Amino acid sequence: MNNRQLFLSHLAQTTDFPLLIEVEKAEGIHLFGPNGEKYIDLISGIGVSNVGHRHPKVLAAIQSQLDKYLHLMVYGEYVQTPQTQLAKALCDTLPDSLDNVYLVNSGSEAVEGALKLAKRFTGRREMISCVNAYHGSSHGSLSAGGNELFKRAYRPLLPGISHIHYGHLADLEKINRQTAAVILETIQGEAGIRVADREYFQALRRRCDETGTLLILDEIQAGFGRTGKFWAFEHFDIVPDILLCAKGMGGGMPIGAFIANKEVMGVFKNNPLLGHITTFGGHPVSAAASLATVQILQEEQLISQVEAKAALFKSLLVHPKIKGIRNKGLMMAVEFGSFEVLKPIIDRAIELGVITDWFLFCDDSMRIAPPLIITEEQIHDACQAILRAIDEA
Ligand code: PMP
Repeated sequence: MNNRQLFLSHLAQTTDFPLLIEVEKAEGIHLFGPNGEKYIDLISGIGVSNVGHRHPKVLAAIQSQLDKYLHLMVYGEYVQTPQTQLAKALCDTLPDSLDNVYLVNSGSEAVEGALKLAKRFTGRREMISCVNAYHGSSHGSLSAGGNELFKRAYRPLLPGISHIHYGHLADLEKINRQTAAVILETIQGEAGIRVADREYFQALRRRCDETGTLLILDEIQAGFGRTGKFWAFEHFDIVPDILLCAKGMGGGMPIGAFIANKEVMGVFKNNPLLGHITTFGGHPVSAAASLATVQILQEEQLISQVEAKAALFKSLLVHPKIKGIRNKGLMMAVEFGSFEVLKPIIDRAIELGVITDWFLFCDDSMRIAPPLIITEEQIHDACQAILRAIDEA
């Protein structure tokens, strides 16, 4: 059996439409197939490869850690330099009130930890999240998700979570003194890139303060420079009580975090109530890669170029079949009106050497989220291929 056949017969399938792209190697913004194929990666493993694939400094950090130790013990027992240095580097990117980092394995686990933390800290049981939110696939994070179709088969889910409409000021009244936390994506990703305005975020922050509710911002997709700021909440002049990150954080390695202040995080310390335990969370190799990723984003001025690169995409992607483009920095959705129109375009673009896809809850729009290191010339090449794919699909 060849690799595609093995994939189809022995790997669990997660979609009716697998792209089935074979990859032998990845470097920078490119993926390379076994028969000389070369693709421009415009999705970055869904917002993961922000510094590009196999960035030399990420590889060097991993190599150096491989020579020291791999796993030692459940997170939080030994003093591990990659973890302490990473926590400090993350806190240095954040306002003073976010000074305590809990390292985990993934985005979903960061969500789980944050929901538990909010219950413990407030003593409240109710939560609010948003319609069309995506927070992960585990039971707790799925419960916070806002797409009925995805949740239906798994009920009963976590009780006590109600949903408001992202960006709707009037809905903020539903946050009250029983609400432990509001969790929302700063920029809604899988809903197809929806961006609320500054007024909304200001009002949300005020309402949480008035009711003693913790504000949890999920920047698992929007963080790490993707939107043109290190953290997406910086666009709106607010600070969350708990911040979630993963994906782009590891520079291609699995790692996530929920970040709060010492007082909030401190409740996890109180024995005999179990806080959050994770065997592999903050794995030293991932933590070393993540520390290098933070440094690369800062040293290579990748974030300050995001806005201009996004503007270039928008100026080039003009075609009668494109109904509009929604974006915050290089988190972009190109709207085609239906999956029937979009899917053949994505397939043809892959044949032409450009990889894009669609969103979990928005299948009429093309996802564009390239590595932030993409150059102007590469943006021109990618857009030319997409326009050709539109004409030839
Ligand atoms: N939150 C958001 C906003 C996400 O985009 C994702 C992943 N698409 C998650 C949470 C879940 O992250 P993970 O797949 O690492 O569990």
